[in-house]
Amino acid sequence: MPSMRDAVVVGAGPNGLTAAVELARRGFSVELFEALDTVGGGARTEELTLPGFRHDPCSAVHPLGVGSPAFSAMPLDRYGLEWLHPELPLAHPFPDGTAGVLSRSEAETAVSFGPRDAGRYRRLVAPFLGRWHTLVPDFFKVPWDGLPRDPVTLSRFGLLGLQPVDWLTRRFHDDRARALMFGLAAHAIAAPTSPATGGIALVFALAAHEVGWPLPRGGSQAISDALAAYLRDLGGEVHTGVEVRRLDELPPARAYVFDTSPTALARIAGLGDAYRRFRYGASVFKIDYALDGPVPWTSADARRAGTVHIGPSSREITAALHAAVEGERPHTPFLITAQPTLVDPGRAPEGKHVFWAYGHVPRGWSGDATEVIERQIERFAPGFRDLVLARATAGPPELAARNANYVGGDIACGAFSGLQALLRPKLARVPYATAHPAVYLCSSATWPGPGVHGMSGHNAAKAVWRRLRERG
Ligand SMILES: Cc1cc2nc3c(=O)[nH]c(=O)nc-3n(C[C@H](O)[C@H](O)[C@H](O)COP(=O)(O)OP(=O)(O)OC[C@H]3O[C@@H](n4cnc5c(N)ncnc54)[C@H](O)[C@@H]3O)c2cc1C
Repeated sequence: MPSMRDAVVVGAGPNGLTAAVELARRGFSVELFEALDTVGGGARTEELTLPGFRHDPCSAVHPLGVGSPAFSAMPLDRYGLEWLHPELPLAHPFPDGTAGVLSRSEAETAVSFGPRDAGRYRRLVAPFLGRWHTLVPDFFKVPWDGLPRDPVTLSRFGLLGLQPVDWLTRRFHDDRARALMFGLAAHAIAAPTSPATGGIALVFALAAHEVGWPLPRGGSQAISDALAAYLRDLGGEVHTGVEVRRLDELPPARAYVFDTSPTALARIAGLGDAYRRFRYGASVFKIDYALDGPVPWTSADARRAGTVHIGPSSREITAALHAAVEGERPHTPFLITAQPTLVDPGRAPEGKHVFWAYGHVPRGWSGDATEVIERQIERFAPGFRDLVLARATAGPPELAARNANYVGGDIACGAFSGLQALLRPKLARVPYATAHPAVYLCSSATWPGPGVHGMSGHNAAKAVWRRLRERG
């Protein structure tokens, strides 16, 4: 008979690993089970194309990771995690060869929006500068779980952040600033008229000024490996290659914490239709490239940025998002791209590069978006196609097959739109708890949602350690 654990965690994505670490560092015994042969979930690195080219099939750039209150409280640097900062966090090129940028300096950022909007941008971000380390813990916790550290800043942020990005950016005269902010909000894969998309844009803009948009040396796997190594040092056990199908397959434990979709959790733990109202959102078409040289961007700023967004106007970005959300095949997709080898040349053979790109497509879409994505890249980097040595593509079916949390290819594990952007997975005093007293959910289906920051795992672990301590 196996001994009783304090907690069993299912799924070794950033949230499952964080939940396991948070419990282990508070003295609880923890065992973790992961379906795949390696830990990481959406934070992994693989040779997807040619030997020596190290790609991130999922997350690549980590403003929310470097700025995460959970990760910052852990000694992950001792376990090999090193953040590499590109010269510019983000460039958003325009057809005239110039670009809007997100720079570490808000002044340089403001200037890139043109004279009519520079002051407006500075006034938008000014109240929050220098406050990341109180604002983000306040914002990332469950709002009704204790008092905020800085209620004034949080309220100011809430008033702006709850707005759709479409409203938030009406203060700008020109489309340069609007297009850049729409691109930031597009990370949520929701229409720009959707509530709280303004908050997404603002968080990413502030992150650039406060903590940067870095990449981990060696790729995103470094985050997961550091978390797993720290967990093992704390006495946690990690099992890979074990897909959990039923609760009674797991060793006996006082708490079970699931880094899974709500749908899978309901099936595994017999919770019936507890999450029947939970909605899954649109998907992406991802391409990882092995390149013979750096991307030949026309814009000089794009050539020095870790991340490059492609969407020449707010109108074009809106149309692309509407198409993905409404189930239309992509025609002119908005693209999020990243250039890891600008800061980390060791991820490709000498002189070669890896390049990361995705565009939004409908959930479950089984077409091939390679052509429309490359047409978009060529608009801003003529000659790009000539540099392609190899490419690995993944649309919704492949993404869903790779990770059970991407239901229909939804990389956010639940639409980030409407009320569900704020109430994840549903309205509850403790959103991580379930109808089963020992079962918890910790994936990005829960507040504060997608991204590699571990805060859903941190918040879920907090609910677990409170319950375990109450019961002695
Ligand atoms: C293409 C793409 C690009 C992205 N880009 C970024 C980015 O640049 N920056 C960023 O911050 N975020 C990005 N994200 C989002 C980010 O990866 C996710 O939000 C994050 O990984 C969610 O973490 P999680 O722990 O909740 O779930 P996941 O990372 O999805 O991990 C869940 C884990 O649970 C395992 N699992 C599921 N079911 C079971 C089961 N029954 N038994 C055992 N194990 C199970 C899965 O195999 C997986 O390992 C991207 C995602 C994708 C797909």
